[in-house]
Amino acid sequence: MDLSYTPEELAFQDELRAFLRNELPAEISEKVRQGRELEKADMERWHAILNARGWLAQNWPKAFGGAEWSAVQRHIYDVEAAAAGAPRIVPFGLSMLGPVLQKFGSKAQQDHWLPGILDGSDWWCQGYSEPGAGSDLASLKTRAVRDGNHYIVNGQKTWTTLGQHANMIFCLVRTDPEVKQQEGISFLLIDMNTPGVEVRPIILLDGSPEVNEVWFTDVRVPAENLVGEENKGWTYAKYLLTHERTGLGGIGASQAALASVKRVARAETHNGKPLMQNPHFAARVAQVEIDMRAMATSNLRIVSQAAAGGAPGLEASMLKVKGSVIRQEINDLARRAVGPYAMPFASEAVEGANDLIPDPLGAGPVAAQYFNNRKLSIFGGSNEIQRGIIAKVTLGGGA
Ligand SMILES: Cc1cc2nc3c(=O)[nH]c(=O)nc-3n(C[C@H](O)[C@H](O)[C@H](O)COP(=O)(O)OP(=O)(O)OC[C@H]3O[C@@H](n4cnc5c(N)ncnc54)[C@H](O)[C@@H]3O)c2cc1C
Repeated sequence: MDLSYTPEELAFQDELRAFLRNELPAEISEKVRQGRELEKADMERWHAILNARGWLAQNWPKAFGGAEWSAVQRHIYDVEAAAAGAPRIVPFGLSMLGPVLQKFGSKAQQDHWLPGILDGSDWWCQGYSEPGAGSDLASLKTRAVRDGNHYIVNGQKTWTTLGQHANMIFCLVRTDPEVKQQEGISFLLIDMNTPGVEVRPIILLDGSPEVNEVWFTDVRVPAENLVGEENKGWTYAKYLLTHERTGLGGIGASQAALASVKRVARAETHNGKPLMQNPHFAARVAQVEIDMRAMATSNLRIVSQAAAGGAPGLEASMLKVKGSVIRQEINDLARRAVGPYAMPFASEAVEGANDLIPDPLGAGPVAAQYFNNRKLSIFGGSNEIQRGIIAKVTLGGGA
């Protein structure tokens, strides 16, 4: 195991830094650094810039128009992009559906749907969870009944991230209610403009409409939109989840967030001294930095194993748990560093029009980020579920 970058990887890092310096629009990185809400147009613009360079679909094979980066290159991108204030790449089409279509989709589906993910003509969202089917996903009830060349879909999905921007949703639906739960699920691609699809916003703790309910009433879906075989959707769903969890550690974003906390804590005073000299605060910063470095090293170890052909499974769960705990601690430190300035709930600050509220530390979005990032230990499989997986694999009881 060699954890230092090779000369080629260092050259790639330089190339990436130059690209970010020259191509990342300042108004977008400014929004990211200030923790302000990105509009759909901002995310689409960044995707288009990456796509023009051939760097949008970083994990896709070249045959499908991807960059085919190694795991180490993706790690370098994660760190450099976050440090530069680049928006995160919206994962639903690129990291989730893309790999599923490449492995299980028909040639016609690959030809039809993959280019639209790259050029941004389709915005996908993920229709897995339902009320009553989150951790226990296999109990999902959204029903799809075959009717000639169509499926008729009825039911409800929930927590659908950025569904308000999407024109397409990939869904797990129940096609056979009579068999064991996992054996009656199919993977269906649904056009959200079809009559009978309704999107209703859910407002999160930070006031943002980031997630939605998606309702289906007698929605007619062409049978050609079934991925793979009917009732084999659980296999495809699990394959997708391993792709979803890899990368949930968010090391780059945490490093950038901690750097910002330190900047504020050096400028802010407590009892006449910089906050960074407060022993209690400094100890918490030191602890989270140690944890973060340990995680970064583990991440490199894991990506170097993956580069050598290993598949991250259990390790993805470990990174997900550790990464979310670290990020939430950094959010708490940020809240404490700015003190009372984090108190007002200021949606204007998040939206970028904060002239009315005194905000010398750029603290407007800090409370909103603290509340918003409660989600990190829930989505992509909650931390309790991940700990269960880790315990089962390491302490016995099977993988
Ligand atoms: C902001 C956000 C965005 C999301 N985006 C999407 C999306 O785009 N698409 C999508 O399909 N889903 C999405 N989700 C849903 C997410 O995957 C689920 O919330 C998650 O899987 C947990 O399911 P649940 O909310 O139903 O909680 P439940 O499964 O009801 O769990 C409730 C609590 O019980 C604990 N628990 C449950 N079972 C066990 C167990 N066996 N052992 C120990 N503890 C257990 C859980 O950890 C949790 O603390 C999103 C969620 C959030 C919060």
